[in-house]
Order: sequence, then structure tokens, then C-alpha cells
Amino acid sequence: MTMMTAKEYEESLRKLRLQVYMFGERIENVVDHPIIRPSMNAVAKTYELAHSPEHEDLMTAVSHITGKKINRFTHIHQNVGDLVKKSKMGRLLGRETGCCFQRCVGMDTLNALSIVTYNIDSKYGTAYYPRFLKYLEYIQENDLMVDGAMTDPKGHRGLAPHQQPDPDAFLRVVEERKDGIVVRGAKAHQTGAVNSHEVVVMPTLSMRKEDADYAVSFALPSDAEGITYIMGRQSCDTRKLEGGTMDQGNILFGGHEALVVFDNVFVPWDRVFMFREVDFSGQLVETFAAYHRQSYACKVGVGDVLIGAAQTIAEYNGADKASHIRDKIVEMNHLNETLYCGCIACASEGHKEPSGTYCVNILLANVHKHNVTRFPFELSRLAQDIAGGLMVTLPSEKDLRSPDTGRWIRKYFKANPDVPAENRMRILRLIENLTLGTAAVGYLTESIHGAGSPQAQRIMISRRVNLAEKQRAAKKLCGIED
Ligand code: SF4
Ligand code: FE
Repeated sequence: MTMMTAKEYEESLRKLRLQVYMFGERIENVVDHPIIRPSMNAVAKTYELAHSPEHEDLMTAVSHITGKKINRFTHIHQNVGDLVKKSKMGRLLGRETGCCFQRCVGMDTLNALSIVTYNIDSKYGTAYYPRFLKYLEYIQENDLMVDGAMTDPKGHRGLAPHQQPDPDAFLRVVEERKDGIVVRGAKAHQTGAVNSHEVVVMPTLSMRKEDADYAVSFALPSDAEGITYIMGRQSCDTRKLEGGTMDQGNILFGGHEALVVFDNVFVPWDRVFMFREVDFSGQLVETFAAYHRQSYACKVGVGDVLIGAAQTIAEYNGADKASHIRDKIVEMNHLNETLYCGCIACASEGHKEPSGTYCVNILLANVHKHNVTRFPFELSRLAQDIAGGLMVTLPSEKDLRSPDTGRWIRKYFKANPDVPAENRMRILRLIENLTLGTAAVGYLTESIHGAGSPQAQRIMISRRVNLAEKQRAAKKLCGIED
């Protein structure tokens, strides 16, 4: 089976024995838990669309190791066309789900490892790359969902890993054995963690030689002994427990994040992809980050949904013909398509690495992600402006359904006579969800901090830009000779 259907994906998750906690309790049935299930639905969309003839070109690829048709999320980019399709796939899925669909992190991890394991072998004569390819084939053949785990809790931000008062603040090797290694630590903010079959761990920053125990990368089944998941809370998350069909805004999909704890977990050698090669830690971080900054093409798709919702509420309010509303919709589209330019540009300017993998243009990927730290906030401001204050003062669905209050709500919250009050409430709830509720985790805060905080991109921009060339051009034009 090289491509699972959405149903097969769901069933495959039921076989996992994950240790998941939320609200202080162990969750036995993860797949059907009402708070987690929408996030599983979002990942399932990455499986479903791969079987749709309409989306086949974006959603599937041909494996460079087996020649078989595979889901693009398990593919290693073989040319610039692959990189461009990856950006388009992200926008498509963002638009179809209206949230974080979680599967890009694993794809970006696999691609980064395909470059860095090769480079480590070239320098040290190790055999990580063939080992990685074997693992990749396992992922591709079984169409697995991979959680790429980079972000450590990090402890005191001013101290290196080995200087931390608690040495587990960064994930590390605590024992080296003949058959493998034992690791301890945690990874925070793990998107899609409990919807994953596998977790692939990477270091979170460049390491020095004193930090050798922390320069480690490896893969584990998500239900390996010693791994515990503690679900993160999201604003308005318990609305999903209320059982209605409206107040969640997005009634189909959502994202989730978890703290993943590795408590003395054993990793066999054939799943270790970096072991104390401190000088490659930074390269793995930068390569993964560049790919993942490109992946923020997803926010363009979510922006499509927000723009669609803003236009709809304008029509439902009867305000869509007002010139300032029309101009705000133009502004939203301008911002969103500007984001699209960035994720297409960094892909189009991609290049071949020594392993044969194509990597995005790192400068442009960072510029793209830096725009993503800003524009969704302005898009959200404009959507809230167009929506009106009712978005946050609207009574609940139960009040709409109540025989005592429903008629008042239908009477007083009707605006455009052609539109039932319920539809107006639904679209307002969707805008609320995207800009204040559970989806705002992905659309706003994650847009700032996911794939690295704004400062990380500014550092990369300053490193990658050719300032001397710009100075040369300026000086030449005004006759300065140094
Ligand atoms: Fe993918 Fe976007 Fe979610 Fe990151 S935030 S995992 S890029 S959908
Ligand atoms: Fe992310």
C-alpha cells in the first residue's frame, strides 16, 4: 500500500497505543475525542485529496527511490517543479481545511535529513544517508504521517544546552549502548503529534562541542515506550465538547499541538540519523527551517478562507457595495497574494544540493515567512472590521435553538432579508474561529512563532543578503571609486 485513503489513515491511528493526556486525564480513544478529532480530520484531508483526480498532480509524486506513486508529503523534492507544487499544495490544503493540517513538518524534516545526512557522510565517512533512505522507503511505502520534532523547551534562553540548570531542557542522549541510544528530554508545540505514526527528532539550534549529547537526530514510532503527549489548550477549545454545529466556527477541521516528553526512550541505531556531529546541527536546523518557512504557504490558503468569509459577511450585512468595504476586500487580497508570491518565489529559485534533493532559496523562504509573521494580523484586523462587533457579542447556538429566545435572535440578527440569521451567525463564528478561536492558534500566533520567530528570519535575511553587491551598484552609478 503506497497511498492510504483517509479512512485507512484513520483506522491506522486506532492501532497506535499513544499515551495522551488532556485536562489531567489519560485519553484512551484519541481518534474520536471531540477536541482532537477535527485535527485528525485535517490530516486525513492530505490522504483524501491524494486520491482525487483533480488534485493528483499536486498531491502525489513519483518516488525517486522506488519509482512508485506516493503522497507528496512523503516525497523528496527532485526538481524546482516539485518545490512549486509543494507551495501550491499547502495553499490548497489551507483553503480546504481552514486550519493547520499538520503534515508539512514531517515532509520538511525528511527533505532536510536527505540533504544533511548525505553531507555528514561526505565529511565523516559515516553511513547515515543509506540508513535514512531505508527509513524513507518505509515511510513512503506505508504512507505514514511524520511529526518532525525540533523545538525543545529550551530552559533559560541565555544558556547553552550543557549550561542549563536542568540538563533535560534540551533533548539529549543519556546513554550509548551497543544496540542504540537512550534519549531524554521533550519537544514542545508539536503540531499534529498525536495524529502521527512516527516522530523524527532534530536538534533545535547550532551546537558547540560541549553540547555533543544534544546533537542528535532520530526516528521513533509515535507509540514507543516512554513517550508521553500532553495536549495544549486552545482558546475556545471546549466549545467542541458542547455538541452543537455552529459555535465552533469551523465545524469540520482544526489543528492541535502537544508537549511530547521522551522519558529515557531507547532508539535502535538504524533509526539514528545524527549522533554528536555538532558541526551539522546548525545545518539541519537551517535547512529544515528554510523548508518549513516555505510551508507557510498554508497561511495563504487559510487567508483565502478568511477573505471568502469577509466578503460573505459583507453581503449578509448588506454592506458589500460600500466603497470602503470593497477596498478592504481588495487590500486583503493584495496582502494574501503577496504572501503567495513569496512561497512561489522561494520554490522557483530552488537549487540542487549534493544529495540530489532540491532546496528552496533560503533568503526568499525567510522573507516569505517574515511576511507571514505580519500579514495575517492585518488580514484579521480587516476581517473583524468588516464583520462588525456582533462577531464577539453573538449569543450561543443553544439560544438560537431555544423556544424562549430563538425568535428574538432570528428577528434582531437578521440583516439582509434574503439571508437567514443562522447563516449570518455561522459566518461570524468562522471569522471568530480564524481570528480569535482555535484556528487563530495556527493563523496568528503560529504565523509569528512557527518555523522560527521573526528575529530568526531577520538574522537569516541579514546573513543571506548580498549587501556588498548593492553598494557596488550604488557607488558605480554616482562615480565613487574605492
Ligand atoms: Fe503545515 Fe502550516 Fe501547519 Fe506548519 S502551520 S504544519 S506549514 S499547515
Ligand atoms: Fe508550523
